[in-house]
Amino acid sequence: MQIERLPALSDNYIFLLTDAEQRLAAVVDPAEAAPVLRRLDALQADLVAILNTHHHGDHVGGNAELLRHFPEAVVYGGAADRGRIPGQKVFLQEGDRVTFADREATVIFVPGHTRAHIAYYFPPLHSREPGDLFCGDTLFAGGCGRLFEGTPAQMVASLTKLRALPDYTRVWCAHEYTLKNLQFAHAMEPQNAVLSDRLHQVTVARQHQEATVPSDLGLEKQTNPFLRWDQPSLQAAMQSQDPVQTFARLRGKKDQW
Ligand code: ZN
Ligand code: FE
Repeated sequence: MQIERLPALSDNYIFLLTDAEQRLAAVVDPAEAAPVLRRLDALQADLVAILNTHHHGDHVGGNAELLRHFPEAVVYGGAADRGRIPGQKVFLQEGDRVTFADREATVIFVPGHTRAHIAYYFPPLHSREPGDLFCGDTLFAGGCGRLFEGTPAQMVASLTKLRALPDYTRVWCAHEYTLKNLQFAHAMEPQNAVLSDRLHQVTVARQHQEATVPSDLGLEKQTNPFLRWDQPSLQAAMQSQDPVQTFARLRGKKDQW
């Protein structure tokens, strides 16, 4: 399975999964159809699956048009998104499996951004290769999604599941928000040297219009404040010793920032 990143709308990423031998493709969160159709045409590949993480328009906006071109494509999404994802055929729950090409994803239920949000985790085929996590708007490079339909406690539980995945995991999040996220993170944890380094690297990368997705989960654990609610430095900054309250205050500050 190959993974390609297709920029869409103003700051979304669509991910195209391809099986070059079979000329088959699956797409994660098609914000719009046009970039996907162009790429499928260039590859002469057929779309067999749409994997949605949640129902927001910038993640499912391309579903209907893709289905007009590829009526056989199967639309996957969270069970609790029934009625909200155009064309949804498969209603996934925690622990369900989705296979594509030579890989098999496990579904992780990650409510918080929305009440139905799921992530797809593809473990590596071989021990020296990275796993691949498609996490929509739950975990971002350097940040996390806003809480539209969930509570801080739910989001902490969801991010705890993602944080438990191996360090060597590529984080394919759905937006290019990394620079702003890390600027905020640095303001919260100015003493974190790994974070300062990362902010510098991402600043340079963005000056050159380079994508910062995928990121590395091991680096996220060290630098993303929304995975660090149990760090004393962050708890001190949020004036709390409670992980959920630390997270909630951090999320609140980011919303105002
Ligand atoms: Zn969203
Ligand atoms: Fe989004």
